[in-house]
Amino acid sequence: MSEKDLTSLLFDNSYTSLLPADTQTQNFSRHVKNCCYSFATPSKPPKPHLIAYAQEVAQVLELSTETCESSDFLEVFSGNRLLSGMHPYASCYGGHQFGHWAGQLGDGRAINLGEILNTKGERWTLQLKGAGPTPYSRKADGFAVLRSSVREFLCSEAMYHLGIPTTRALSLISTGQPVIRDMFYDGHPKAEPGAIVCRVAPSFTRFGHFQILTARDEIDLLKRHVDYTITTDFPHLGPPSKSVYLKWFEEICTKTAEMIVHWMRVGFVHGVMNTDNMSVLGLTIDYGPYGWLENYDPHWTPNTTDNENRRYCFGNQPHIALWNLNQLANALSPLFKTHEPLQETLTHYASHFKHSWQQMMVNKLGLLTFNPKTDSTLLSELLTLLQSAEIDMTLFFRNLAQLTISDQSPIESINNTHLIEPFKGTFYQTSQLNSKVTKTLEQWLHRYLQRIRQDNQSNNSRRQQMNAVNPKYVLRNYLAQLAIDKAEQNDYTMIKDLLDVLRQPYAEQAGKEHYAEKRPEWARHRAGCSMLSCSS
Ligand code: AMP
Ligand code: MG
Repeated sequence: MSEKDLTSLLFDNSYTSLLPADTQTQNFSRHVKNCCYSFATPSKPPKPHLIAYAQEVAQVLELSTETCESSDFLEVFSGNRLLSGMHPYASCYGGHQFGHWAGQLGDGRAINLGEILNTKGERWTLQLKGAGPTPYSRKADGFAVLRSSVREFLCSEAMYHLGIPTTRALSLISTGQPVIRDMFYDGHPKAEPGAIVCRVAPSFTRFGHFQILTARDEIDLLKRHVDYTITTDFPHLGPPSKSVYLKWFEEICTKTAEMIVHWMRVGFVHGVMNTDNMSVLGLTIDYGPYGWLENYDPHWTPNTTDNENRRYCFGNQPHIALWNLNQLANALSPLFKTHEPLQETLTHYASHFKHSWQQMMVNKLGLLTFNPKTDSTLLSELLTLLQSAEIDMTLFFRNLAQLTISDQSPIESINNTHLIEPFKGTFYQTSQLNSKVTKTLEQWLHRYLQRIRQDNQSNNSRRQQMNAVNPKYVLRNYLAQLAIDKAEQNDYTMIKDLLDVLRQPYAEQAGKEHYAEKRPEWARHRAGCSMLSCSS
């Protein structure tokens, strides 16, 4: 790998060279029309400190360890200094928030430093989140607090290592500048430490980038932005044309379906699936009040703002993704004479989702193929059991792989006490492990063993298949909060430890088992562990 210092980063900046800029260059909040972005310079933090960086992202950018640990790196990724070739900008987008059209949103606290090309020819956009106000900041300050920045930094990388499409995080830097936040919007604002994350992705283009142009009837610009996106981010589709627009939309549908299937696999709840938080590349984007399922509960949402309607709860995510794709189809419709081709293409989402979800569940259960006759029931019975008995989803699936079928002896003769032993620790309330639930669990496990016996796979290969998709280590809500509590006391060790453990989420890591433990009781109702607001 070629390793560069910062001055040799090759900035290409196709977004700003090929799409029109706001002609107003003063940085104040406003509606920005007839263009795609506004140039905006990051604020200069008074006392930046590098808390952590992700070496894998540095490698993608071809930056050496020495470079990442240099004062130049700190200056540049805190927003204090621009490199030659950087031409920072904030982009304009709109979106549906909680089902309602919200008009212009835009990069209110994200500033893109530019796009680099690495020696492999890969394009990566570098974006500072929390670097101060832009024309899209509306009434807010453009900054970000440490707690939300720790969460974004850790989760981006955790998702990447889980094999889930996501924007990446290069660095986490505290600014030395306090930020005032009213965490629960209850009239108790307080000063919190500020921070900046450098996010990295091929592009940060959202459904909302196209929605805002159509909403404003800027159809020429819509076409330009679509053509630019296809040419830059989807070059394999060929030169833009009507038929390529459809292929592009189809790819967005399938990529979105893939992303959601991954979320359902690992128990990730995004928390704010507004259309401005949906990437056209099918990347998980904008880590806000996200959370990880502890006890399996499709109705669970970590986002207190959504407590009442639960629009963005775990089980609703597949449906909301479709709703969002429908909004994107509406935004793209001026490129076509009628809605029909887009609506037809949209059907790919449901079919792709169904197929991928089944395949994902086949892998989670360690089956060879999905047999609709038996497996739909097997699965739905399991999910009902997990939900009704407050069972930890991650631990349950991980422990399921431990079962061994030793010979052809009748399954009924298996010692039930041994059989349920690996699952005892997956219950959140021991009182739930009563005779009725125990019986249901035993019966389900018998059916499961019968089913896997039909496949005739060795215990080892089944276990391997399962352990490759059922993580042992996820960024449990309480772990992220403990790392934040320490970071707020200037102790960053747990951030580094978590980053390290989450690099190998599927591996057994000796000495790290405590990071795989289910939520302790103290965290059941603690803010930050089970309840999060959008305040960040
Ligand atoms: P989010 O809910 O984080 O996806 O943000 C929705 C919109 O609000 C986006 O346009 C953000 O850029 C903007 N936003 C969120 N927090 C801030 C902030 N502190 N300052 C300025 N804009 C913000
Ligand atoms: Mg957002």
